[in-house]
Amino acid sequence: MSVSEFDLVVRSRRVVLPDGERALTVAVRDGRIAALAGYHEPPPARETVDLGEVALLPGLVDTHVHVNEPGRTHWEGFASATRAAAAGGVTTIVDMPLNSLPPTTTVYALEIKKKAAEGQCHVDVGFWGGAIPANLDALEPLLAAGVFGVKCFLSPSGVDEFPALDPDQLIKAMRRLATLDGLLIVHAEDPATLTDPLGPTYPEFLDSRTQDAELRAVERVIDAAVLTGCRAHIVHISAGSCVEPLRRAQQSGIRVTAETCPHYLTLSAEDVTSPAFKCCPPIRESTNRDTLWHGLATGTLMGIVSDHSPCPADLKGLTTHDYTSAWGGIASLQLGLPIIWTEALSRGYGLPDVAKWMSTAPAALVGLPTKGTITIGNDADLVAFDPTGKFTVNATKLHHKNPVTPYDGHKLTGIVQTTWLRGQTIDAQAQGQFLFSPHHQS
Ligand SMILES: [Zn+2]
Repeated sequence: MSVSEFDLVVRSRRVVLPDGERALTVAVRDGRIAALAGYHEPPPARETVDLGEVALLPGLVDTHVHVNEPGRTHWEGFASATRAAAAGGVTTIVDMPLNSLPPTTTVYALEIKKKAAEGQCHVDVGFWGGAIPANLDALEPLLAAGVFGVKCFLSPSGVDEFPALDPDQLIKAMRRLATLDGLLIVHAEDPATLTDPLGPTYPEFLDSRTQDAELRAVERVIDAAVLTGCRAHIVHISAGSCVEPLRRAQQSGIRVTAETCPHYLTLSAEDVTSPAFKCCPPIRESTNRDTLWHGLATGTLMGIVSDHSPCPADLKGLTTHDYTSAWGGIASLQLGLPIIWTEALSRGYGLPDVAKWMSTAPAALVGLPTKGTITIGNDADLVAFDPTGKFTVNATKLHHKNPVTPYDGHKLTGIVQTTWLRGQTIDAQAQGQFLFSPHHQS
């Protein structure tokens, strides 16, 4: 091998760069993007792949995944979740602190989680910590241990071991984090506005969790960000009514960002046919979807993440059709890219938009400078994506541990053909690495 030879070059007429699509050759050496050349001038390499009209995107960065291992590994585990991620073009996930046992609210719990994940990860994995009433004096060591920020709930989380913060505790947490330049991510629903569902049906469940409940909680977080100077990020915005207050806050320099999810952007309350669609906050009426797309288009909503939160079929209420007792959470980790691409196409958006929302922006949120774009020097995390291929979702064929997803039977456009992690195709060997925030001190 000559010194000038690359390990891998990938040619595509549709390489997705931050400023648009171009016909290029991406050259990889030692796991990094080492050069960009013309499509017709591929440099010598040990392996050359010509994708033709199949697009080449930066690997997706999904900063909202509930892996649930250890403790609820039968819901989802690191091996199955990261296989599903890889098959869906996702090369980095950041794991949520709750639903695993113990929840990631202490350094000790983070160590247990890393031990559980060790050797099982097919993509890169980072971790969020959790802020609960009991650990507000111990957030600094958790950040120093490398979590990308801490998550809190303002309303019950669904699991007893991860209690919500009351308004005073929210401010206390944000004051602490502000001194550490830490990021607080918030499940924003106001507990005083939520009500008990009047019955087991979907309309009754939807009525119990209104747009107003989200709006009041978002306003509380914005007020707390002003008071404390802490950086805050609202997870999974479902209510379109939150977009305008977020826009105003951002415009006035308040450090608050927000994400949304594929299910809020592509499904609507009218589509709901089973508790596979149940999540909190809920999927709302179709007009609400348009407001969320507008929020993405204008940048008020920074990006799209899965909130993959699966559970076994028996907890999902598929036989009882009881939306009150069913677990709230949607499984979609492997499907996010084609789900969003299918809807983005019909709304006139392009692959650069999708790459910005699903890769660049989430990487920036958690501060991963070598992820999220096809740029010289970045990790060669790449996805070959056929933007015209079509397929029908078969839940039993997904790598998710449990074959439950509201997208089962949906016809989608866009097929992930190959995923590379640091220039290697993802195979039986688990090559994923742990990622830590710049706060990491050991
Ligand atoms: Zn979640």
